[in-house]
This record gives sequence, structure tokens and C-alpha cells, in this order.
Amino acid sequence: MPTIKINVEKCKGCNFCVDACPLKLIKISNKLNKKGFNYVLMDSDKCTGCGLCFQMCPDLAIEVYK
Ligand code: SF4
Ligand code: SF4
Repeated sequence: MPTIKINVEKCKGCNFCVDACPLKLIKISNKLNKKGFNYVLMDSDKCTGCGLCFQMCPDLAIEVYK
């Protein structure tokens, strides 16, 4: 099943991946990483592995598994 893995310590909470996901599966959380940024989470089995979130992330915080 396709999915993504988010490295929350690399995430800066820029929301680019939130906007990029066509299915709106990525959500900004109310939790902070060690740098003080609200990081994003994806907790869905509907991910298609399209990779758009990965392509938009400027901080290489997302890995895609097909
Ligand atoms: S791989 Fe595609 S469907 Fe899955 S979370 Fe990223 S943008 Fe959304
Ligand atoms: S694009 Fe990258 S840095 Fe920005 S919110 Fe998404 S995972 Fe975090």
C-alpha cells in the first residue's frame, strides 16, 4: 500500500505539502518539533504514492513508498 514517511524534525511547517496533496491527506498538527515548528502528519490509507508532496517539500522531509 502506498504511503509516505514524514521526518518531523526536518519539517518547518510551511504547508507546501498540505496544499500539494490532491486528496488533502496531509494535515498540520498542533505539535512542535525540536526546532519549534508545527510539523505535518499523514494518517490515511488513501495515499496513492503520487509523490507531489515529496516534490514540493523544500526540506526533503518526506519519503514516498509505493
Ligand atoms: S504521495 Fe500523493 S496522495 Fe500521498 S500524501 Fe503525498 S501528495 Fe498525497
Ligand atoms: S513541505 Fe516539507 S517542510 Fe513544508 S510542511 Fe510539508 S513536510 Fe514540512
